[in-house]
Amino acid sequence: MRYAEHISELVGGTPLVRLSRVTEGLSATILAKVEYVNPGGSVKDRIALKMVEAAESSGELRPGGTIVEPTSGNTGVGLALVAQRKGYDCVFVCPDKVSEDKRDVLRAYGARVVVTPTAVAPDHPDSYYSVSDRLVTEIPGAWKPNQYANANGPLSHYESTGPEVWADTDGRVTHFVAGVGTGGTITGTGRYLQEVSADRDAAAGGRVQVVGADPAGSVYSGGDGRPYLVEGVGEDFWPGAYDPEVPDEVIAVTDTDSFAMTRRLAREEGLLVGGSCGMAVEAALRLARRLEDQDAEAAARAVIVVLLPDGGRGYLSKIFNDAWMRSYGFLPDEEGVTAGDILR
Ligand code: PMP
Repeated sequence: MRYAEHISELVGGTPLVRLSRVTEGLSATILAKVEYVNPGGSVKDRIALKMVEAAESSGELRPGGTIVEPTSGNTGVGLALVAQRKGYDCVFVCPDKVSEDKRDVLRAYGARVVVTPTAVAPDHPDSYYSVSDRLVTEIPGAWKPNQYANANGPLSHYESTGPEVWADTDGRVTHFVAGVGTGGTITGTGRYLQEVSADRDAAAGGRVQVVGADPAGSVYSGGDGRPYLVEGVGEDFWPGAYDPEVPDEVIAVTDTDSFAMTRRLAREEGLLVGGSCGMAVEAALRLARRLEDQDAEAAARAVIVVLLPDGGRGYLSKIFNDAWMRSYGFLPDEEGVTAGDILR
């Protein structure tokens, strides 16, 4: 019989799927790395597992301890899964812009959730960083993974995501594109791919190019931290998990373009994914178009891998809801569709 002892053993090993519709007119091979098939539904399962195991080894997390983390949801799910397996309690701190659906998921796994206002500075006492710091000092046996600064985040990607991309493309990947939140994914995966391809012949694509995708307004693409609605990516400070030396460039994408592409991925590629996935794919397509304009032959040989961090179920009342999209001007006003329109 072939089975896992616990769902948390099935983290990683996610598949690549070629994008074929949204890529129309482009000759590059564009492959999506689909992270929603992880047990907790996102790429964050990878860092959760690695951070907890490292904290156990170092003695920072001891039996009966409590994991306290500011998280937009996905890291919380990963940590909750691993914590359940190992017998730890979880307390998560979420900004109020995170959808109610996502917070309910955390509670469903048995975690406690504290909600904080989004519109305050990181050093404000009510910010989700400050609140989680206070909880950590006051709960006995508490340990804060701190995904923004924990080196085991990028390390988990260096050890798993990077080697998977290299192996599954038979060493032919030429570009890696990922959204930047804590920066762990792009730093760890990008560093691995750069190292492993460092001596590759120019004819075979040379060194892998690493491209970040970032919400317009966020610091990674030169913004001043002004607000955006895409969740899980972009920052208003520079986290330690991000090594700015790794990305060869960072492409800024607006909410409008991110959400439009997110909806196209569901409708045209059968990929019901989150807003940061639409953002990353939009950046990958811009990159592919630019390659095409610069050197059509090189573009035809390009193998662009774009990482899709999570699934779309947590965004049904937002990105996939027409009324919500219209209320922010992301969709043009439109009369409702009647049965007559469809039957005509
Ligand atoms: N997309 C989503 C939905 C996320 O939750 C995250 C993690 N914050 C990211 C993208 C970015 O990943 P990273 O933190 O590794 O940069």
